[in-house]
Formats: sequence, structure tokens, C-alpha cells
Amino acid sequence: MTTGDALLRRYAGAMVQVFGSPQLVLASGEGCWVTDVDGKRYLDLLAGIAVNALGHAHPALVQAVAKQAESAIHISNFFTSEPAIALAERLLEVAGAPAGSGVFFANSGTEATEAAVKLTRRTGRSRIVALEGSFHGRSTGALALTHKPAYREPFEPLIPGVVFVPPNDADALRAAVDDTTAALFVEPIQGEAGVRELSADYLRLARELTSAHGALLVVDEIQTGIGRTGDWFAHQASGIVPDAMTLAKGLGGGVPVGALVTFGSAVTGLLAAGQHGTTFGGNPLACAAGLAVLDTIEHDHLLAHAVEVGALLDDVRVDGVAGTRGRGLMRAIELDGVPSAAVMVAARDAGFVVNAVTPTALRLTPPLVLTATELQGFLDALPAIIEAARRATDGQPS
Ligand SMILES: *Cc1c(COP(=O)(O)O)cnc(C)c1O
Repeated sequence: MTTGDALLRRYAGAMVQVFGSPQLVLASGEGCWVTDVDGKRYLDLLAGIAVNALGHAHPALVQAVAKQAESAIHISNFFTSEPAIALAERLLEVAGAPAGSGVFFANSGTEATEAAVKLTRRTGRSRIVALEGSFHGRSTGALALTHKPAYREPFEPLIPGVVFVPPNDADALRAAVDDTTAALFVEPIQGEAGVRELSADYLRLARELTSAHGALLVVDEIQTGIGRTGDWFAHQASGIVPDAMTLAKGLGGGVPVGALVTFGSAVTGLLAAGQHGTTFGGNPLACAAGLAVLDTIEHDHLLAHAVEVGALLDDVRVDGVAGTRGRGLMRAIELDGVPSAAVMVAARDAGFVVNAVTPTALRLTPPLVLTATELQGFLDALPAIIEAARRATDGQPS
């Protein structure tokens, strides 16, 4: 038995099984590569689901975290620290947020959503419009806005008053947003739905309708933010300014940190002293990590780099590939006649980590430091990977 198999047995005996059986037991990473406990190396084209923006063991992140750990890891929100203040200032700056804007730090995406939901309740309204295909998190508040019935239904009743409308459907949005709407939640690109983009026109309509009806526009940039699509935040490409934005995943480069950004003093003032809180949120360790991520993205021009390298995926002409979609380094490869789960397994056997995001599509959310040569290595291997997946599923219904 391999070391990996032995560890997976122990996993099965020690863990709640919500993730099923993990595919690999990983030991370490460096740059865009990860190594499993049996010494096999893989090109990491998932990056912990759009989290490891700087890849693994990036010196800037390692040094920032080590240095901060040597001084103070946690201090509670009775106190504050320079890294927390500096990270909030940097986020407001790259978000182009107006004077009076603010940041609330959490520890995860779902907590950022919870903070946003509480913010919207302070409008005095409770009706929320969300989109079909949405994913906003797994805690019970965020789950109410998450569309997938398999995630939501086992835990109902959830908070009431949420309605779902089909994405990119202007008429459905016009019909759903009215003077009783507290907020509209959108992901500029729906990651969990298979990298499905909202059009710029639709985002602008979302802004117009929410403004006209006194509702808040909340953009969930938990997956799309922090440079993933080639802009700091994906909604910026459409020119809209939201009322609130949620962040997590890439923000800490792997150190858990989430954030709610509120735009302008009217929205920021909705949450008053005592109305929300967290023990860990905004701790100096996580905020030092966030600063190192933002500094490195800027210093190493990773926004332009993500666009340049991602362009290799604009047009993938491989037998078994129906097409690609997405922006920057947030991409999906739609397959034709071969199940994504089999392709994911064949890719792993060939030394590539990818994600079967839907039954027919692979998701690629690699580190922003991925090189064109590394990505080309995957594209060169793709025909053989798809062929192996076809052989493995031959005779099985897809
Ligand atoms: C991952 C994700 C979340 C939830 O984040 P967690 O850190 O897993 O709680 C919410 N919204 C989007 C768009 C995400 O991709």
C-alpha cells in the first residue's frame, strides 16, 4: 500500500465525510507545483480553488507570514494593528471605493456573505434577489442565497425572502427587483456554476435597477476578485460601482481571510457598533498575508500576466473539447462527449490538478504566477488525457 493509500484510510476513520474521499494526500508545494506524500509531482491548475494566487511557498508570502508570526498572530478586535489598517486601505484603493467606504474582515467567504446579508437587513427590508446557479457559501445565511437545491434543501427552512432569477435575463431582473428589495447579490462570473459570466450590460442593468429601487447591489468577488480575471475585481470591467463587495479565496494567498467592502458612507454606516463581530477576523497574521499578496500582484504585474497567460485558453482546438469560457486565469473547458470526472482522473494520472466543476466542464483557476510554458505543457498533454479518459469510460454511459 502506498503512503497515500494508508493516509486515506486513516482519513476515512477520522473525518466527517462531507468531502467524500479526497483524491490525493499532498505533502508540499512550490510555485505552481504540488507533491503528494508518495513523491509524485503535479502542475496545480486549481490553486486550492482560486486561493493560492501566488502559488505555493512564494517567498514574499512566506516571509510576511513568518515575520508577522514572530511578533503578533492575534490580538482580538478590542485592539487593532497596522497590518489590518493598511490592508483595509489598500483594498479600498484598488476597489476605487469613494470616501466614507469601509472594510469588515472575516475569515472565509461564507462569513463575508453573512456580513453582507446582515448589512442588507439594515436597509429595513428583507427580500433578497439572487441568481440561479449562484454560490455564496455554506453557512445557513449564505446557503439561503446559494441556488443549488442539493446544497440548500437538506437544511431548510433557511432565512426566508430569497428569490432566484435566471442570470443574464434582463426581463426577469426587471420583474424581480422592486421597492421591497433589500439587495441583489451577483457573482460577475459564477464559478461553481461552471465559470458562467454575467454580461457587462447585465451588470449595468443590475446597478441601474437597484439604484432606482433603493436596493443594495452586492457583488460576490470571493472567487473572481484579487486579480483572478485580470482586473483587481471582475466587476470593474463593466464600469459599475457596487454598494458592497465580498472577498476571500485569493485575498490571503492561502491564509484564511475574508472581507466585506462597503462603498460610501451611507452603506458603510448601516452597520453600527455592536451589530456585527468576529474573534479571528482582521488578525494581523492574515492581514500581513493579504498585504503581501496585493503587493506582489502589483509589483510583479500579475494582472497583465493573468490576461496574457490566460489567453492561451481562448481557443483550444483539441478533439473532445467543445469550447472554453472565462477571463484571465478563471476558465472552463467544456468537453464534448467525455465526462469531466474521467478527464480529471486522467489529468491527475498525467500529473495535472484540474477540477470537474460540472459533469461536462473542467475548471482551471491556477496560481496567477503560472507561466505560459507551464500552461502549454498541460495543453500539449490534453489530447492524450482526453483519449485516456475516453478509454476508461468506454462502454459506460456518460
Ligand atoms: C468559495 C466561494 C464562497 C464561499 O467561500 P468559503 O471560504 O468556502 O466559505 C462564496 N462565494 C463564492 C463566489 C465562492 O467562490
